[in-house]
Amino acid sequence: MTSGAWWSKETVAVVTGANRGIGHALVARLAEHGITVVLTARDDERGEAAAAPLRDRGLPVVYRRLDVADPASVAAFADWLRGTLGGLDILVNNAAVSFNAIDTNSVEHAETVLRTNYYGTKLLTEALLPLLRRSPATSRILNISSQLGLLNKVRSPSLLRLLLDEENLTEAKIEGMVSQFLAQVKDGTWEGHGWPKVWTDYSVSKLALNAYTRVLARRLQAGSERVSVNCFCPGFTKTDMTKGWGKRTADEVADLGVSLALLPPDKLPTGTFFKWSTPQLYSKL
Ligand code: NDP
Repeated sequence: MTSGAWWSKETVAVVTGANRGIGHALVARLAEHGITVVLTARDDERGEAAAAPLRDRGLPVVYRRLDVADPASVAAFADWLRGTLGGLDILVNNAAVSFNAIDTNSVEHAETVLRTNYYGTKLLTEALLPLLRRSPATSRILNISSQLGLLNKVRSPSLLRLLLDEENLTEAKIEGMVSQFLAQVKDGTWEGHGWPKVWTDYSVSKLALNAYTRVLARRLQAGSERVSVNCFCPGFTKTDMTKGWGKRTADEVADLGVSLALLPPDKLPTGTFFKWSTPQLYSKL
């Protein structure tokens, strides 16, 4: 444990989609800080195989199955967490899918992308909210998002108005936006509606996640709850999602991601989008 740190081995972190890529690196780095980390994956074999080398290094890592796109799996995970560790202090929503190659833009898998990256993340967050311990150090949710979902990628004036109207933005409006996109995908009219141009289905999923982060942060602040929620875009990173292309490694991303997840309570913002290490203005969230 780092001296002067707010955390200890009693601190519990949960990381989703952690059998490979950025999620796996985040688990290793959090556990190296002495934090008890629940490494989750949707497949037992892949999850156990990813946890074993970390445990062999003596790191405090526990494996548990969690498919964020499956409501039954989310409910079972929340029950297990309540029954075993009692709660958590840090939730890292990392799991996501993209079916696009770097230079393609297919929406063939839009439903799966939205179900995983947006609805799944939200479902898990809402299921674990009551279990966040709200200690004096403040519980933390870090959503691994993407700058592809920033507002400067949106070309529809009405959509921009909806997302910029902070006072009146609600979860229902965000869901409405996602349903509208999926309906347009279904009837083949999604092009020409001002959605982000690159990796459109993935970008819409992150656009919705960013907006939900902001709405949730406001909701938690209104209830004076000691829970912060922020987004972090790691930038172009060498993982399977990018077919190994990228500017940085998952380990480099984990160094920064963990430093954001472990910010001292008096330096911890909420409702902020970190593009690499730079906090962005809300207007770009
Ligand atoms: P990877 O494709 O390497 O890893 C994705 C992980 O998510 C895998 O462990 C995968 O599991 C898991 N996953 C997918 N679907 C589910 C599900 N339904 N339930 C649980 N886990 C699931 O991607 P990265 O490591 O690159 O991405 C991590 C995060 O970083 C994502 O949120 C991504 O959007 C974000 N990001 C990545 C960038 C990059 O350049 N790499 C850039 C910006 C953001 P399985 O092995 O079973 O498929």
